[in-house]
Amino acid sequence: MKYANIIVNISHENLDKTFQYTVPEDMAGVISVGDYVTIPFGRGNKLIKGYVLELTDEAACDPLRLKSVVSIDTDSRLVEHKLIKLASWMKQTYGSTMINALKVVLPIKKLVKEKEEKSIVLRLGSDEAGERLAMYAKKHQTARERLLKELISEGRLDYRLVTAKLNVSPATIKAMEKQEVLSIEKKRVYRNAANAGKRADAVVLNDEQQEAASSIINDINSGIRKTYLIHGITGSGKTEVYMEVIDAVIRQGRQAIVLIPEIALTYQTVMRFLKRFGDRVSMMHSRLSDGERFDQFERARKGEISVMIGPRSALFTPFEDLGLIVIDEEHEGSYKSDNSPKYHARETAIELAHLHGASVILGSATPSLEAYKKALDGEYKLFTLSKRIGDATLPKVTVTDLKQELKNGNRSMFGEELKKAMEERLSRGEQIMLFLNRRGYAGFVSCRSCGHVIKCPHCDVSLARHGGRKLMCHYCGYEREDTNVCPQCGSGSIGAMRAGTEQVEMNVKKMFPYASVLRMDADTTRQKDSYERILSAFSNREADILIGTQMIVKGHDFPYVTLMGVLIADMSLNAGDHRAAERTFQLLTQAAGRAGRADLKGEVIIQTYQPEHYAVKCAAAQDYRGFYDREIAYRSLAGYPPAGHMLAVLTESASQDDARRYCEALAETLRYDIIKGRYGGGAALIGPSDATVGRINDIYRKLFYLKAPDMSVIVRIRDAAEKYTDEHREKGIRVSFDVDPLKGY
Ligand code: ADP
Ligand code: ZN
Ligand code: ZN
Repeated sequence: MKYANIIVNISHENLDKTFQYTVPEDMAGVISVGDYVTIPFGRGNKLIKGYVLELTDEAACDPLRLKSVVSIDTDSRLVEHKLIKLASWMKQTYGSTMINALKVVLPIKKLVKEKEEKSIVLRLGSDEAGERLAMYAKKHQTARERLLKELISEGRLDYRLVTAKLNVSPATIKAMEKQEVLSIEKKRVYRNAANAGKRADAVVLNDEQQEAASSIINDINSGIRKTYLIHGITGSGKTEVYMEVIDAVIRQGRQAIVLIPEIALTYQTVMRFLKRFGDRVSMMHSRLSDGERFDQFERARKGEISVMIGPRSALFTPFEDLGLIVIDEEHEGSYKSDNSPKYHARETAIELAHLHGASVILGSATPSLEAYKKALDGEYKLFTLSKRIGDATLPKVTVTDLKQELKNGNRSMFGEELKKAMEERLSRGEQIMLFLNRRGYAGFVSCRSCGHVIKCPHCDVSLARHGGRKLMCHYCGYEREDTNVCPQCGSGSIGAMRAGTEQVEMNVKKMFPYASVLRMDADTTRQKDSYERILSAFSNREADILIGTQMIVKGHDFPYVTLMGVLIADMSLNAGDHRAAERTFQLLTQAAGRAGRADLKGEVIIQTYQPEHYAVKCAAAQDYRGFYDREIAYRSLAGYPPAGHMLAVLTESASQDDARRYCEALAETLRYDIIKGRYGGGAALIGPSDATVGRINDIYRKLFYLKAPDMSVIVRIRDAAEKYTDEHREKGIRVSFDVDPLKGY
């Protein structure tokens, strides 16, 4: 570590503009990545400040020509310091280049026109407003009704929030302005949050909530920094506990980040935080432009806000004195990045909290095995919220054995029990949700005579049939005309094999022609705002039945839903990776939590071919601990995370031969060293083989896995693999790493 690469102006465009300096001997032991240092710069050797991005043994040019670092600013409280350190940790942990890691943690600087903050203000008195509301309802002007309802309760709303989360279009707002229902003002909402937490609508925590909140706040006040796991079913009041702790943290003048999976980041959730913390709260979501995102980060940097709510990337909000990170639904797969570095927000948050001296609260109804194991091991402190707030009871859960249905001669995708329950709900005017863990009209299209499967010409996957007589590839978007004739043998008995959401919709419409049906899946939500539109239409009772993929089971409240039907629960059990049971359990538990939240009694019917599987059984019994014990035993036996650690190494190339050759050579090199015990004990290499999808977009994919009991072993092997790929660079070959992968390849 004799040389330091230093950046003097941090911004995305400048990340590769570093300058190399010599590290004087007396600094060699103390200097580290992220340090803020003083260096002589330019011809005049003016003393300026910069950040250490990398430390290396190799000089990029003649060492005699390099200048030396003058001093290290040891008391650096600057946020960049921490973010660079975090990037360095991400690079080491997940494998990536420093530049890629930095690009993730540093906001993209884009000059945007200063945007005025607008807000919407109600202009009507309460009587008039009430009349107007009734009129909107009568005319089925649901967007207007929604906005007016919210204005009556709030008086004033943030413009951006209304368009982004309440899903009311600017045109509608304009029309209502013309009707003199509201006016648009160029002011920010919620000016004053000095009385945060003291609002009339703050709830009185119950004993379990109080126990969790007080213990965490006591720890924080006495300087103890920990990670906490709150295990509580949906509706058990976790969010109230988060808010109580956030309140304590901002009172100390520190800041908080709240991560919520984008799909669960609903208008209601954001409103709750806004009501409690006023304009100290800001929100991020993926539809923000780079410029808007940068704006939000600047507000955080200037200290204008204290709480940032958002999905994974909100973690990198540049707060000066971060006191708390909350990760709601910590088990969600969306907390892991798909791009290099493939970081997990949970682990990264804990590292970031460490750098800031902050605390972390994880919350979930179905904690990841990773988090729960650490809680049982005492590394995290565990709190359990066992009761639902109010009278909301847990729904009754029934499991239907689809094998038995088939034996009884029922070949439809609806068992007798589900059909009967649906009829009942429809006749009572209650709502129904049908959940299918698979999208599209149907699965693969194949010939029943010769077995031929119609595949994508660019990917090793079968095409799926979609409405409008099209066949589509879900990986690359390739489309072709549908066909009634087998291209292989000419037979007419070609057909779609498996049920998809579109097919469910068709069948439901056939069974209950009088019912109105909404469908939510990747196809119906492709358009901007369509996701929110479907949800609000359903919550306004504009439809009786909502059919959908996992999107519909995540974090939405529909008080009139009294029946949740899970069509083929074991579909997700057959995904073929070691997390399939965990994912299935989570989905089923969540689905079961959707019904019966209000005073109406809820029922859940789970249809499955594997009623005896522990993931199905435990979900039906809402028995998390039972599931955990079974699953952790299996993982321990097989050495899968969290019992051990894994690394997926994927080699991609347009040439199948090159991909295979390179992947095999890399695997051989590593295997040789593993056998010699060079990386520490217990490591094993599995493969290489074709990836599950062996080709995507004409790129071939070869894969092997490494398993080891210790993370340190995995890190050493990955370092060795990275060294190999650095030294054996080949054009057209890409190797990528995924530590403790959440999905199969
Ligand atoms: P979770 O985050 O676990 O799903 P929430 O915090 O959203 O649960 O609570 C569910 C509902 O119960 C919310 O409407 C919330 O305002 C309400 N609630 C939570 N705690 C209490 C309480 N102690 N007293 C009254 N209502 C509460
Ligand atoms: Zn055929
Ligand atoms: Zn394709």
